[in-house]
Amino acid sequence: MNISSLRNQFPALDQHIGDYPLVYLDTAATSQKPRQVLDAMAHFLTTDNANVHRAAHTLSGRATASYEAVRDKLKAFVHAGRREEIIFTHGTTEAINLVANGLKHRLNSGDVILVDSAAHHANLVPWQQLAAQTGARVEAIPLTAELRLDTAAFEAQLEAGAALVALGHVSNVLGTVNDVNTLCAMARAKGALTLVDGAQAVAHQRVDVTDIGCDFYVFSGHKMYGPDGVGVLYGRYEVLDTLTPLLTGGEMIKTVSFTGTEFGELPNRLEAGTPPIVSVIGLGAAIDFINSLDRQAVLAHEHDLMARLRAGLEAVLQIRIHSPRDAAGAAPNSGAIAFNLGDEHHQDVGILLDQQGIAVRCGHHCAMPLMSLMGVKGCCRASIGLYTSPDDIDRFLAAVKEAAELLCP
Ligand code: PMP
Repeated sequence: MNISSLRNQFPALDQHIGDYPLVYLDTAATSQKPRQVLDAMAHFLTTDNANVHRAAHTLSGRATASYEAVRDKLKAFVHAGRREEIIFTHGTTEAINLVANGLKHRLNSGDVILVDSAAHHANLVPWQQLAAQTGARVEAIPLTAELRLDTAAFEAQLEAGAALVALGHVSNVLGTVNDVNTLCAMARAKGALTLVDGAQAVAHQRVDVTDIGCDFYVFSGHKMYGPDGVGVLYGRYEVLDTLTPLLTGGEMIKTVSFTGTEFGELPNRLEAGTPPIVSVIGLGAAIDFINSLDRQAVLAHEHDLMARLRAGLEAVLQIRIHSPRDAAGAAPNSGAIAFNLGDEHHQDVGILLDQQGIAVRCGHHCAMPLMSLMGVKGCCRASIGLYTSPDDIDRFLAAVKEAAELLCP
């Protein structure tokens, strides 16, 4: 892989923060966007801009064709069975809320919703709301001492009965990868519905929802080199078709009168109102960009970067790494590594790194329950993308060493 020509496609990477060239290690929060994506959005707005689905005029026809073509791209990208199984939302958060709200009528008092202890709040709070509204109960799926999902405990929980299982695919904090194929198969065997939060997975690995065997898979455009404002809900048709719409109004109806409304069919039934059209167009360009790369080479490149990050951080005595080491029987960590510098406040570390142009994220990362399992209020996270270079990692490590000497000599 030619990293420098790849990096040249990301204009935002080419800048200085003060005197220092930017080192962007916050891709897990949002990825930078290649020129191809920026150009596609600008082109759409300058030449094809119109609302979709509703008009006889040419511009609207072009906009609708481009918008719907992205649905087809996504169907292929995640290996869905039908294009109607792809629903555009405004992000992962909305997609999970859509599912949680839509399942309200299927859950009963006493039902159990099992949620990954490493889940992002987006994959926990909507289930808590659903539980509060239905009398169902949210139970955490425990993690092992090294912070991987505890499969034996999960099996026992399933044995006791669960209506729904909400899993992360890749942890946005630790970078650990759940074996979602196995976990979803276990859940399915016990009759539980499954939702997988793929927000941190889609940019890094091939995703095949049919192979995973989940009922729902959700992700955001902005974490996969696309724009913000758009997310995707994949739902297995038979289950998706039973969801009560979260939003009602235009676009999602068949007929409306003052005596009542008949809803339309999938996918429009779950896409009320004007969708995020230009963001969908940008997401389509992001998929084209990803598909144009040798994904095996990207995987290998990112794996090397993660190994370099880990080894470098392990060499700094004062650093406490929270992400478990790669282990036999588990997929290697992907995208992110979490650490603290001694007992120093994570924010102080972030500020010191920023002074050298290095962007990492420090905080609870929308995973407060995981923070308590880690025994911290917050931590630092370095996260990579396909444009990250070995030099980025080395500059980050040198700055971490300096911060360690300064803060805890
Ligand atoms: N789940 C995970 C694992 C995430 O990393 C994020 C974003 N940090 C979300 C959900 C929420 O995504 P969004 O803010 O795009 O809705």
